[in-house]
Amino acid sequence: MTEPETATDVNRRCGRCGSAVSRRFVRVFGIGDSVHGCLDCLPRKRLSNGEAARREDADRERSFRAP
Ligand SMILES: [Zn+2]
Repeated sequence: MTEPETATDVNRRCGRCGSAVSRRFVRVFGIGDSVHGCLDCLPRKRLSNGEAARREDADRERSFRAP
């Protein structure tokens, strides 16, 4: 892709707190085109666990179905 990085960065925000995140950050910690946590609202350890790649409601649904 040849888009200037500054143009894409402003379109990417943390789904949890709304902070702007970089495309690289979304690619590393998020899922698809979105990320559900960032360094502003999640500890790095939880980001590394993949927590930002899950939606809160999806997580809730999973635990609801758990036996
Ligand atoms: Zn955040």
